[in-house]
Formats: sequence, C-alpha cells, structure tokens
Amino acid sequence: MNTSHILIVGGGTFGINTALELRGRGHAVTLLEPGPVPHPDAASTDISKVIRMDYGRDEFYMEMMEESLALWRQWNQELGEAVFHETGVLYFTLDGMGPGDFEYESYQLLLKRGHAIERLNSAEISKRYPAWNAAMYPDGYLNPQGGWSPSGRVVTLLAARARAAGVNIIEGARFTELIQDGKRVIGVRTADGGEHLADTVVVCAGTWTSTLLPWLQNVIWSTAQPVMHFQVPAAELARYQPPLFPVWTADVGKTGWYGFPAQADGTLKLANHGPGWPMDPTLPRFMPEGTEAMFRKFFAESLPGLKDAPRTFERLCFYSDTFDGDFWIDQDPERPGLVVSAGGSGHAFKFTPLIGKVTADVVEGKPNKYAHRFAWRERGEVTAEEARFVERK
Ligand SMILES: Cc1cc2nc3c(=O)[nH]c(=O)nc-3n(C[C@H](O)[C@H](O)[C@H](O)COP(=O)(O)OP(=O)(O)OC[C@H]3O[C@@H](n4cnc5c(N)ncnc54)[C@H](O)[C@@H]3O)c2cc1C
Repeated sequence: MNTSHILIVGGGTFGINTALELRGRGHAVTLLEPGPVPHPDAASTDISKVIRMDYGRDEFYMEMMEESLALWRQWNQELGEAVFHETGVLYFTLDGMGPGDFEYESYQLLLKRGHAIERLNSAEISKRYPAWNAAMYPDGYLNPQGGWSPSGRVVTLLAARARAAGVNIIEGARFTELIQDGKRVIGVRTADGGEHLADTVVVCAGTWTSTLLPWLQNVIWSTAQPVMHFQVPAAELARYQPPLFPVWTADVGKTGWYGFPAQADGTLKLANHGPGWPMDPTLPRFMPEGTEAMFRKFFAESLPGLKDAPRTFERLCFYSDTFDGDFWIDQDPERPGLVVSAGGSGHAFKFTPLIGKVTADVVEGKPNKYAHRFAWRERGEVTAEEARFVERK
C-alpha cells in the first residue's frame, strides 16, 4: 500500500484519532495545533462527556455506538485507566413516553435490537434515585449500557500514544491558509509564517472549521453552549453518585437538560443540549445574562437539593453544527488533496474510537460502512440529532 505524508490541522478528538489511525497504517503524520493538546477551548476538552447508544429512531447512530461501546470497554483495559465509566444512563420524561418522543423511539429500537433496559415510573425513580423530584417524571427508562468519559483526559492519553507512535505533533502552530498548486492542495501556511507541505491535508478544526474554510459556512456553523459546575457538599456526595445518581437526561429532546454524577471532589456538571447561541468562536466568550438563573430553575424543579449549590465554574463550549446534525467527513470535491473531518454537532465525542478510522478510510479512498452518512452534501432542511432540544418542522 502506498504511504504518504499527511498533515492534520487541529488536535481535538477528530484530529488526534485520525493521526493515530493514519500513523498506524504506515503514513508519516504531522499535526498542527495552535495551543497545547488538549487545547482549553476545544470542545473535546472537558471533565466529562456522555457516552450513550440511545438515538431515537436513528438506527445508524445506535449501530455505530454498539461498535464504539465495545471499543470504549477495550480502551479501559488498554489505556491503563478508566476512560469510560459505565454508570448506565437514565432517560426521564415529563409525560408518559409516546410515539415520536426521543425516549419512546429509543426504547422501542433498543428492544428491537435486543438490548436489556428497565422502564421506570415515578415510584421507581423516587425509590432508586432519591435526589430527584420524582413527581416531575412519571415515565422513563434506565439503559445500563452507557455512561461518561473524561474527554480531556482521553485526548491527553491518545496524544501521548500518537507521539509514541511517531506522529509529529507541533503545538503553537496556527493554520492560516491552504497552499494550492492549481486546484490541488499541497500544504498549509501557519501564523508564524511557516509552510508545511504534504500529500494530503485533513482539516479537523472543530467549530473553527468553517471560519478557516469559509466555503463551508452555508452548511457548518458555530453554536455556543453553556456548561456549569456546582459543588456538592462532601456529606451528600453519595446521593449524587452511582448507583443513586448515574448519567441522566431529563426529557432532553424537549428541554435539553442532561448531567453527570458528582466527581470524587464533589464537582457536579450540568449542561444543556439545546439550541445554544450562534457565536464567532474566535471572539472573546461571555456567558449570556440569565444563564445561571436558568440552570438554578432546573435544579429547583428537578433536583431541589442542588438549587443553592455553589457554582464553581462556567464555560461556553462550541458545537461545530452541520445543517442536519450529521458529521462532515469527506474529500473536498473542488480541492483535491483536502479532506474535512468536523461537524461533530454536539454529539461526536462518544464515537471517538471510530472517528479516526472513518476519516482514515476517507483519506485513503477506502470503503467505510459509516462514511456515506458524513459525505459532502448540499444544504437541505435544517435539523439536529434526535436527542437535541431544537425547533423541528
Ligand atoms: C458543551 C458541549 C457538550 C458536549 N457534550 C457531548 C457529550 O456529552 N457527548 C458527546 O458524544 N459529544 C459531546 N459534545 C460534542 C463533542 O465534544 C464534539 O463533537 C467533539 O469533541 C469535537 O471534536 P473536534 O476534534 O472536532 O473539535 P475540538 O475538540 O474543538 O478540536 C478542534 C481543534 O482545532 C484546533 N484549531 C482551531 N483553529 C485552528 C487553526 N487555525 N489551526 C490549527 N488548529 C486549530 C483547536 O485548538 C482544537 O484543539 C459536546 C460538545 C460541547 C461543545
């Protein structure tokens, strides 16, 4: 097989896993990243991300997660520490689950695919998960498969693996423009005036991708999402940790709310998988007025024990949103030598074990059973993955 020199722009989970996979296939690989890997502003850099296989009616992503889950469990053995905490995931609903609901459709598809899950009602929720105001949630289910991953730590571990495998990671290198010979992309320039030539350039710049490649702005854009951490008192920690408090979603398709068990130091993360705010990721980030009040209102209603918990951290983290919520992994049809791998749309981290493989197959022009869904495409109806709380036609 022909090997070549491949240049990757961006050291988040897309970039690092693509680098690892291509290096493993014998290519020479260089990765450019403006900051440290992991970069503090990167979407992949966080204390926790949800790992779930529940995708409403979307059997494609459920199947892709069935394969990813097995790899996550394998990584727990291989990487020498827990990178996937399989706490199970709770799916609560504000009304009885019904056709068309994210939870109902996920539940039906899980049963159809032979997965063991437990239906829950308020009485069960109250008994098993005492921190919750169970009266709010008459229905739902527990999927024992799934949980959370310390995403920033995962990127650190995989970057170390990449370096050990011979990937040349250059920190402090900011892509500014492509170098082209006619239509063909033959390298990139960086802010320090450097030129980096390669046989193929793979842009994995997450939410910054359509800023760097403006012809994508009609199909990929940046959306800011709020994340907050609160401090759970040590005396109450067990109440907010598994088995009493696994990863959860609270009618997420209609509210956006989801969250995590408290960490060992009492840090509890709350976030919203909702419409967010369109913002330019290159500009200073300010949390919109009233956001904390919105978070505390959720606590007051659903997790009353946390309504006055001290907030210890807040952050705007950016989705690389595609118009349809599917990732964007393909060769640029107008620019031979350029591959784009981005568009995580707020739900790609859980596929980390497969993202690098899909991208590497695209780079090498090899068939991949998932790649068709991420191929270059015309803008169509604007929508999002089924768990996301957005306006739908
Ligand atoms: C608030 C929030 C919550 C999320 N929760 C979940 C979840 O629970 N489960 C889940 O599966 N997914 C979740 N996601 C989605 C997931 O985090 C992303 O889809 C994924 O991490 C994207 O990875 P990436 O490598 O494409 O982007 P990033 O991790 O953002 O990496 C892009 C990299 O490109 C670099 N870069 C930028 N500009 C340049 C340049 N000019 N030159 C070189 N490099 C550059 C950046 O510094 C950065 O390191 C969430 C995302 C957010 C924002």
